[in-house]
Amino acid sequence: MLIDLHTHSTASDGTDRPAALVAAAREAGLDVVALTDHDTTLGWAEAAEALPPGLTLVPGLELSCRWVPPDSGRPTMLHILGYLVDPTHPALSTALTRLRVSRLRRAERITERMAADGIPVTWERVAELAAGAAVGRPHVARALVEAGVVNSVDEAFATLLSSRSPYHEPKADLEALTGVRLVNQAGGVAFFAHPLARRRGRVVGDEEIAAMAAAGLAGLEVDHPDHDEADREHLRGLAAELELLVTGSSDYHGTNKTVGIGRGGHTAPAAYDALVARATGSAPISA
Ligand code: AMP
Ligand code: FE
Ligand code: FE
Ligand code: ZN
Repeated sequence: MLIDLHTHSTASDGTDRPAALVAAAREAGLDVVALTDHDTTLGWAEAAEALPPGLTLVPGLELSCRWVPPDSGRPTMLHILGYLVDPTHPALSTALTRLRVSRLRRAERITERMAADGIPVTWERVAELAAGAAVGRPHVARALVEAGVVNSVDEAFATLLSSRSPYHEPKADLEALTGVRLVNQAGGVAFFAHPLARRRGRVVGDEEIAAMAAAGLAGLEVDHPDHDEADREHLRGLAAELELLVTGSSDYHGTNKTVGIGRGGHTAPAAYDALVARATGSAPISA
């Protein structure tokens, strides 16, 4: 059983349409794939419709969250994966709409501030590249590559789109414990995505993870391309201590990142079974 529990389609910042993503998943030999677009469930229907025989789809999402320290110091951005939620749950869908509206305004602000400084990007083009998706910095990055401002999406993130760039703009995020509770309220199962992905910015410590566990976190994404061997060892120990499940995944984004679908990390069948057993919001889909 080959299981990849974290992928992105054109419903957010991946480059494969949901239908192409499930086809690629099967071609890569996967038996189970989760579709976990940022702040949206809008890719589920197309993925389910196009599901090839032999592949099981786990509908999911990846919630934009932040950890705010009690002394109200600087927040740490983090991502909570929610699997098998009820996509019609009112509080969840209200939150998702708010997050996506904020993404739209923020991408527009970033683009227009760049354009005002003479950088050859337009909001019109970025919106076209996003095509109704939960828009993110990768869409702005692609417009910058297209205009020849940078040579790659990676270079865009290292320069104009970094959190230290003058063009950096915040977006709305859910408070981390709120995100964990919301996934549970919607009948889903909450996992902490890439907890130690330091390349993206500051990360939280073990105490914060323990607080999330107390709020209903089911597990940690341990085997992730952004984690080195020491990170994985540490997280495996912490998961055992806190009685959390452990997953592994690719965090596939199509051509926006280099990792292939089904690469970089897999989830053990026992952990997958335990995840599915906890869900009440929706069920895995098989062709
Ligand atoms: P945003 O959600 O708009 O803040 O943009 C962050 C997203 O960009 C994350 O979901 C990452 O998947 C993606 N990302 C971050 N760094 C890079 C990079 N160097 N290359 C491609 N995508 C990236
Ligand atoms: Fe992403
Ligand atoms: Fe993420
Ligand atoms: Zn992701």
